Amino acid sequence: MNLRQKLLKPLYDLLDFMLPAGCPLCSRLLSPGDATGFCCSCQQQIPPLPVAACRHCALPYPTDIADDHLCVTCLNEKKPLFERVIAAGIYDGALKEAIHRFKYRDKINLDRPLAELILSELKGIEPPDLIIPVPLHPRRLRQRTYNQSELLAHLLGKKLNRPVILKQLIRHRHTLPQQGQNAADRKKNLHDAFSLTHPLHGEAILLVDDVLTTGATVRECCRVLKKDGAGLITIAVLARARSH
Ligand SMILES: [Zn+2]
Ligand SMILES: [Zn+2]
Repeated sequence: MNLRQKLLKPLYDLLDFMLPAGCPLCSRLLSPGDATGFCCSCQQQIPPLPVAACRHCALPYPTDIADDHLCVTCLNEKKPLFERVIAAGIYDGALKEAIHRFKYRDKINLDRPLAELILSELKGIEPPDLIIPVPLHPRRLRQRTYNQSELLAHLLGKKLNRPVILKQLIRHRHTLPQQGQNAADRKKNLHDAFSLTHPLHGEAILLVDDVLTTGATVRECCRVLKKDGAGLITIAVLARARSH
């Protein structure tokens, strides 16, 4: 966050606390039943993950029939890099709109309701030892002024009472946007993009990102984390894209 955002954030949090709460997407007043922080109407427009999805990476299948099998990407993976993907919903509808505002339009007050969506999916899951957000390259961080995954990780850390580790997994290569690239190009683009400043010792990790599209970024992070001693890794994202 830049200085202005850092100074204003406590004020926005205080106003949120003092004033009748409004839905961060449509500004309608919230009712006591709106537990996630979005109004009922917006909540209904957050598409949940379908039952027909890859049991490992949560890729939705183009069918309504529940089917317990792996997608082709996961089948081609010799050794699973992570345990599973937890996602608040499909990257579509109100969730897509909320993520866009959170990520590109400086609506950082969406951090709480969005983190609540992830938390509701994490219920019943063994809390991790450490929480690590997918880092942005310093150049991208300067442009955007904040890392949306880091904001989410801090709130998850507070609620789960687990430490958030920020400067151990670093992104030292600026990568091109993944969209429009084939699998080989994506892999080449991300090769050696991340590293660990010092090794881990078998800790269970919750790796936090905003959207899982191709999965190439989180897989590369997991490869680096595993190589340097991470234990089980669970991926927590706001949204899962429908296709690669
Ligand atoms: Zn709303
Ligand atoms: Zn899969």
